[in-house]
Amino acid sequence: MSQRPDDICPRMEQLPHLTTNPAAPPIFSASVYACDEPQQAFDVLEGNQPGYVYQRGEHPNADMFGEKIRQLHRGERVAVASSGMGALVTALFAQLESGDHIVISNQLYGESTVLMESELSRLGITCSVADTWDLQQTADAFTGSTKLLVAETIANPLLRVTDIAALSKIAHERGAKLLIDNTFATPVFCQPLVLGADWVMESVTKMINGHTDATLGVLCGYERDWQRVPRVLRSWGLASSPWDCWLSSRGLATMHLRMGRAAENALSIANWLASCDEVQRVDYPGLQSHPDHQIAAKQFDGGFGNIVTFHLIGGRDAADGFIQRTQIPFCPSLGETFTTLSHPESTSHRAMAADQRSAIGIAGGTIRLSVGIESVEYIRTQIGDALGGDGVAH
Ligand SMILES: *Cc1c(COP(=O)(O)O)cnc(C)c1O
Repeated sequence: MSQRPDDICPRMEQLPHLTTNPAAPPIFSASVYACDEPQQAFDVLEGNQPGYVYQRGEHPNADMFGEKIRQLHRGERVAVASSGMGALVTALFAQLESGDHIVISNQLYGESTVLMESELSRLGITCSVADTWDLQQTADAFTGSTKLLVAETIANPLLRVTDIAALSKIAHERGAKLLIDNTFATPVFCQPLVLGADWVMESVTKMINGHTDATLGVLCGYERDWQRVPRVLRSWGLASSPWDCWLSSRGLATMHLRMGRAAENALSIANWLASCDEVQRVDYPGLQSHPDHQIAAKQFDGGFGNIVTFHLIGGRDAADGFIQRTQIPFCPSLGETFTTLSHPESTSHRAMAADQRSAIGIAGGTIRLSVGIESVEYIRTQIGDALGGDGVAH
C-alpha cells in the first residue's frame, strides 16, 4: 500500500471493531455509507433490508431518537424531520394531492396556518378554517373532498384544549383523517393517537429537546397511512441532521422530569398570577376557570403543560414596561429549561388583523410565559418584581 501522505490522509476511515457497547450513542455524521456489493445497495435503498446508504434517506441518529418517540405515542411508524414544519409538510404531502380539501383549526401556530392556507392553495389543495371548539361548525366545514382535519392539542396563546376524541369522530365519520400538533402538550401529558388521531406531529425544537440548541420535528402514525412518508421526506428534502437528532436524544432523556417540574411550576404561577391586582385574566388549562378545564383534566396525564398566558390590565404600555423591567428573557419561542416570555401581539400573532386578534382574546397586554424548571419562588420573584405594583397576592 502507498505510504505517501496524499494517499493516507484522505483514506476512508474504518470503524474500530467494538466488543463493548458505547453507553452514549455516537453521532453518525456520514452523508454516505460504503456498500459491500450492488445487490446490498439496491436492497437497502429499496427498504427490503435494514441499513443505511444516504443520510437524506435514513440515518442512525434519527432512528434512535424516533424509536423512543414512537413508543411514547404508541404508534406504529415514526419519521424524524428537519423541523416541526418539516414534519407537518411531510404529513400533508404524504396524504394530499391537487383537488383535495382540508379543514384546519382557527387557532394554530401561525406558520402552520400560512402553510396550509396560502402555500397549499398554490398546489390546488383548498382549505377551510373552523372554530374546532364548535363541533357543529367543524363538521359543517367538511366537503365531499375533505381528506384531513388539523388541530393542536393545546393552542397558542390562549391554551384552548382540543377534544381529540370528538374531532376524530367527526373526521372518521366523513372518511377523513385527523392530524394533531401535540407540541404544547408533549407525549408526557398527551398521546393523541390513543385518543383517536391518525397522525401526531411535534416540534422537537421546543420542550422535547428542551435545551434551545436544536431544530427538529417528529411525525408518528400508523402503517396503513405510511406508504408515501419515506419518499416525501427524501425527495422534498425534509430529512433531519444527525447532530440535531443526537442533541434531541440527550434532551429526551430528561423530558419527563423537566415537564413534570415545569407543569407544577406553571400551575402554581397561574394560581398566583390570578390573584395579582395588575392582572386582568390568566389562561391556563389547569385552572378551574379555563373554558376547557374539564376536557384537559380528562385528556391529560399528570399535568397541564408549562405555558401560561396572562393579560395585564394596563394594556400594551403595561406589557412594554413589564418586559423592560423583568429579568425573564423575551424569547419568542418556548420550552427552554429557564422561564421565558413572549408578546403575541408583536411576534406570533402580528400577521393577524387587530379585530381578529381581539376577537380571540389577544390584546396589547397579553404575555405568554414558557415556565421553566427553576424554583417556583425564583420565577415568582422575577415576575412580581416587574409587575409594577407590589406584585403580592391579595
Ligand atoms: C414551533 C412550533 C411549530 C414549528 O416547529 P419548528 O420546529 O419551529 O419548525 C409547529 N407547531 C407549534 C405548535 C409550534 O410551537
